[in-house]
Amino acid sequence: MTVRFPFDNSYAALPEGFFARVAPTPVPAPKLVKLNRPLAAHLGLDPDWLAGPEGVEILAGKRVPDGADPIAMAYAGHQFGHFVPQLGDGRAILLGEVIDADGVRRDIQLKGSGPTPFSRRGDGRAALGPVLREYIVSEAMAALGIPTTRALAAVVTGENVIRETALPGAVLTRVASSHIRVGTFQYFAARSDVAGVRRLADHVIARHYPDLANADRPYYALLEAVIARQAALVAQWLLVGFIHGVMNTDNTSVSGETIDYGPCAFIDAYDPATVFSSIDEMGRYAYGNQPRIALWNLTRLAECLLPLFSDDQERAIAEAQSALGKFAEAFDAAYQAGLRRKLGLFTARDDDPDLANDLLKAMAENAADFTLTFRRLSDAAADPAGDVALRKLFTDPAAFDAWALRWRQRIATEPQDAAARQAAMRAVNPAFIPRNHRVEAVIRAAVDRNDFAPFEELLTVLAQPYEDQPALARYAEPPARHERVLQTFCGT
Ligand code: AMP
Ligand code: MG
Repeated sequence: MTVRFPFDNSYAALPEGFFARVAPTPVPAPKLVKLNRPLAAHLGLDPDWLAGPEGVEILAGKRVPDGADPIAMAYAGHQFGHFVPQLGDGRAILLGEVIDADGVRRDIQLKGSGPTPFSRRGDGRAALGPVLREYIVSEAMAALGIPTTRALAAVVTGENVIRETALPGAVLTRVASSHIRVGTFQYFAARSDVAGVRRLADHVIARHYPDLANADRPYYALLEAVIARQAALVAQWLLVGFIHGVMNTDNTSVSGETIDYGPCAFIDAYDPATVFSSIDEMGRYAYGNQPRIALWNLTRLAECLLPLFSDDQERAIAEAQSALGKFAEAFDAAYQAGLRRKLGLFTARDDDPDLANDLLKAMAENAADFTLTFRRLSDAAADPAGDVALRKLFTDPAAFDAWALRWRQRIATEPQDAAARQAAMRAVNPAFIPRNHRVEAVIRAAVDRNDFAPFEELLTVLAQPYEDQPALARYAEPPARHERVLQTFCGT
């Protein structure tokens, strides 16, 4: 039989305690909803075969491909600040790893493929709505240029899952550079299994940070590297208005990819206190809190690594603190550089952060749409006639005028010409993001009416977020008052 999946599994070769071997549970009538053909090809998989009967059975967990070594990964995690010593893949199964066209090792994981030893009271299944949401948002993030897990495929299972009501069941095939989380380290640390922590750290270094293998202090360097990637990642989230929604330590990837899309959403009107998730009652994971939470999660990772730093606890703690102390600077540098690019500034000046902050403040006070403000600013950079459309986004347009005066003075001191500035700004200020009301409308059409045309159309728009796409310009618009979606759900 031809090997259709060129598996090269490394996680399944780790000691038994790292995972549980478990096969997906077969489903009655799988049907393909969507296959990500370019991604399939990039992974060395044949898209036509994957879309065929045998491929779809694999994507639904009805058939296990040759070379797969299906496992559920063990992990722990702080959920909303409370430690749970055992979570693990309760509804996900890692089929195996492949090496992609860039030489990068990628996990291929089914999400919603049936119970595992980590399912606790859950059914191991996923409903179609959350599967479509993850497909849309993760692919949108990739197109925006933000590190993320990818969606390879979505299938419906032909079986209902019982949530508050009966809903169509679905399976998402997810691709990640790994599914190792801060919570994976916590799993071993909570059991005082220092050998396990070390084994995991060695695996993570070899896989994600190979340059560190020969560092003086490889585990310290690992912590620093994860801190740097998380700082850069969260800065990128803020720069496009993304709210993860459930930044628990088990949803924080050590590779620095955005992972575990649940009640995530993008802000429309700019307000740093924005929360969409129905379960985030205290606003712990509000838009503007995300950098602070990332540091909190990284502090939990540092605690796990302490025994690897030094036998001398005080010294180990001092090392951890020194690494954690670099987060704020790394985040600020990435965030401020990103804001400068969004404003069309190529050079850096001391008062640029104030200029950016004052715009954000005016936007917050005037309920200006985050994405549209910056997109229209790109055009106004080339032609002040663009101000007309821009001012309208502010409840008090004069608030924009006052700021625009300062901005124009500032860009006049820049070496680049207006056309170059506009082009550079359009390449960082997207026209299209997965707006909440659009995502909800797509899910309603699919779940209530079995109509996947809106899903396809939204994916098309979001695949080129920095292009104007005039025929689809309506997708750039913020929701009308009656269209606003203020709450999102985990849907597990
Ligand atoms: P999440 O909030 O999706 O990050 O999941 C948190 C934990 O709950 C993880 O251990 C999941 O595997 C588990 N979980 C979520 N939904 C289900 C489900 N339907 N069945 C079993 N486990 C689940
Ligand atoms: Mg999770």
